[in-house]
Amino acid sequence: MLHLGSEIKKLETSGIDMLHFDVMDGIFVNNITFGLPILEQVRKASDITLDVHLMIKDPAKYIKRFADAGADMISFHVESDSDALETLKAIRGCGVKPAIAIKPATPAEAVFGLLPYLDMVLVMTVEPGFGGQSFIPETVDKIRAVRSKINELGLDVDIEVDGGINGQTSAIVREAGANVLVSGSFLFHAEDMAAAANALKDDRIC
Ligand code: ZN
Repeated sequence: MLHLGSEIKKLETSGIDMLHFDVMDGIFVNNITFGLPILEQVRKASDITLDVHLMIKDPAKYIKRFADAGADMISFHVESDSDALETLKAIRGCGVKPAIAIKPATPAEAVFGLLPYLDMVLVMTVEPGFGGQSFIPETVDKIRAVRSKINELGLDVDIEVDGGINGQTSAIVREAGANVLVSGSFLFHAEDMAAAANALKDDRIC
């Protein structure tokens, strides 16, 4: 069994502000993970912010279950089959912060019309599906385009980046306008997690 309480305490004392859960259905992406039982256990063990990233074909069907399991934020893909605006509203209706995720090949404009209805845009900086991939440099312009549209509309929206974030790429994405950085391999393979987290840190990291 995982000693979840002590593991999460270690993350918190290393300066990690959120836990990011990748949920995959084996359809939208090839990998399969099932997030609900582990999410429920983590919620019982800690008050840390739980950020759920749904990489599934029809996220609208599962919003309530992830909200009930303890998610604080839920992102789903603009490329999924669910109606994006209705799904964002359903997430907010469950008392959870809504976010939209966007794959590397999808243009920034795909999320512009949704910006007034969400709290965060998750710009994928690798193809979603597996950990340990290299950062795709072409995604930096997309971060910049989304940040500039948020500013133009005068909104308070976070930009989260997910995939290939390390001590080098973190500075590039922050400069482009990202302020929530997801990091897996870089933190978990570091000898000193607190130092690694500090190296990434702007305002929030998960
Ligand atoms: Zn993710």
